[in-house]
Amino acid sequence: MHLEEVHVPAAPLDRLEPVIGSDRLQQLGGVAKKMRDEFDGRTVWNVNSTATGGGVAEMLQVLLAYIRGADLDARWLVIKGDPAFYAITKRLHNGLHGAVGDQGPLGVREQEHYARISEANAEELHAQVRAGDVVILHDPQTAGLVGPMRRAGAVVVWRCHIGSDHDNDVTRGSWEFLRPFLEDADAYVFSRSVYVPDFLPANRAHVIPPSIDPFSAKNQEMDPATVRAVLAHVGLIGGDASGTMPTFHREDGSPARVDHCADVVRTGPPPPPDAPFVVQVSRWDRLKDMAGVMRAFARHVNGASDAHLALVGPNVSGVADDPEGGEVLNECFQVWRDLPHRERERIQLACVPMHDLEENAAIINAVQRHATVVVQKSLAEGFGLTVAEAMWKSRPVVASAVGGISDQIVHGESGLLLGDPTDSEAFGEALRSVLSDGAYAQRLGRVAHQRVNENFLGDRHLRQWAELFEQLRGA
Ligand code: UDP
Repeated sequence: MHLEEVHVPAAPLDRLEPVIGSDRLQQLGGVAKKMRDEFDGRTVWNVNSTATGGGVAEMLQVLLAYIRGADLDARWLVIKGDPAFYAITKRLHNGLHGAVGDQGPLGVREQEHYARISEANAEELHAQVRAGDVVILHDPQTAGLVGPMRRAGAVVVWRCHIGSDHDNDVTRGSWEFLRPFLEDADAYVFSRSVYVPDFLPANRAHVIPPSIDPFSAKNQEMDPATVRAVLAHVGLIGGDASGTMPTFHREDGSPARVDHCADVVRTGPPPPPDAPFVVQVSRWDRLKDMAGVMRAFARHVNGASDAHLALVGPNVSGVADDPEGGEVLNECFQVWRDLPHRERERIQLACVPMHDLEENAAIINAVQRHATVVVQKSLAEGFGLTVAEAMWKSRPVVASAVGGISDQIVHGESGLLLGDPTDSEAFGEALRSVLSDGAYAQRLGRVAHQRVNENFLGDRHLRQWAELFEQLRGA
């Protein structure tokens, strides 16, 4: 069982200056210097279960790039598991979100299997981690490494990106499963305080929301002609005659071109480039409720607007630790097929290629920028990076008031929140209100951009991690 190392190129902190200004940059420089002094010769290891797909992989790319840009040795390893291990961890993932999932057991046998795979990964990790290094373990898949890494003399932080606003039997069952593995960590980090389980010592629990990077391939500026060229190339909108190439810039600054196409399911030709475009981008996960978006759009928006809906997710073979992706995508196909033809013809489902992650990011960037409205009708959500990404692009967002989405959007100011994510009529009404009023949509988008700038960029994020490291050093 070999751990995979993901290589992340360094990004200089000062590239943030045009966005955060010189005062914030100067503060960040001070934080970086302090971290360098403290970390002399030590490595910060990040360990998770997938290099591609989903919010954790997305965020690690950004955070590691800046930490490395601050001249610190930060590295990223991906653990390995077998299908039974991923079935268990997906069960835990659903459970911590308060959802029943596949209804499979989380008993002693599952705990033993989970421990066995964790030990095999720990052995590999042991060969690389030195006493005094910091090991940040992400999500339930890595909780079994807390004990072994502590015994190796590392400072261990367990970073949990998921959680539920309300406790129920399944959340409690998942926490009971994880609890024996978690006890020894030096610190626990969550995206929201409500996610911290009662049994963790309060003085070791910390809240650090994620961030996005304005300069990554996912969020970098892209002019409208290029946006259209990318979407026409991948097959999501009709071609325009401008002759613009579908280009983007890689993280190292080099120019690149979108070559692959998306797998798109729809009837008839793609929507014209100037048609109103409603988008949800997410993994094929039931908690994202892609099928619910489709039904609500078909029932409550189609007919009242000439908008088209695109549900966009990764190619299902591309997300290693998500065994339910293919199944959920098939369910979505079924829901789509069952819609009456006149409703189906304005809805497309797209799987975006994952061979080249920066190309994938550029396509998602174009999708979000082209959207008249971005929706995120999740039933549960840890933080919801897709929301921050759309807000950064000044898009009006209509989203469920679940998890971290409620921390990002101020209802009526920087987007619209839906109190009940299952209320498809309210979803349709909110969506129609934004689609029918361009000035309102623009206002929501402008405030959204500002809110992300002030709260969800890398300088705030790095500062909070630096504060935590300082605290751990003093402990
Ligand atoms: N994403 C992507 N390609 C896709 C679908 C999603 O790059 O085809 C990205 C999306 O842009 C976001 C991340 O995956 O950066 C999803 O993070 P989020 O926090 O929204 O949800 P999670 O997947 O972690 O539950």
